[in-house]
Amino acid sequence: MQSKIEIPCILCGIGHLQMDKKLRYGGIVAPLGIALLLLALIFGCNSLRILSLVATTETEYAAREMVIFYITIPSFFGCLIGLFLCRTKKVIQCNHCGTTQAAE
Ligand SMILES: [Zn+2]
Repeated sequence: MQSKIEIPCILCGIGHLQMDKKLRYGGIVAPLGIALLLLALIFGCNSLRILSLVATTETEYAAREMVIFYITIPSFFGCLIGLFLCRTKKVIQCNHCGTTQAAE
């Protein structure tokens, strides 16, 4: 996403500065965040199915507690952490030399 503002670059004097959106955390972090988010969504959405698999009539209460503590709650926080890792930030970047400056 780029806007129409064109400010000449101070550093190289040739390029123009453009607004751009970049991932806040580069490298492996964003794919990791997406993977975490998907895993958390899959486990979170299937926690009822998992419950019905592990629960018998005698152990239903304990099994429900286990599933909530070890699957539903971690999935919720996994979603939050996944979203947090995939956040983007606005930057101003030169289209010639590539200098970036945070724009928030
Ligand atoms: Zn430049």
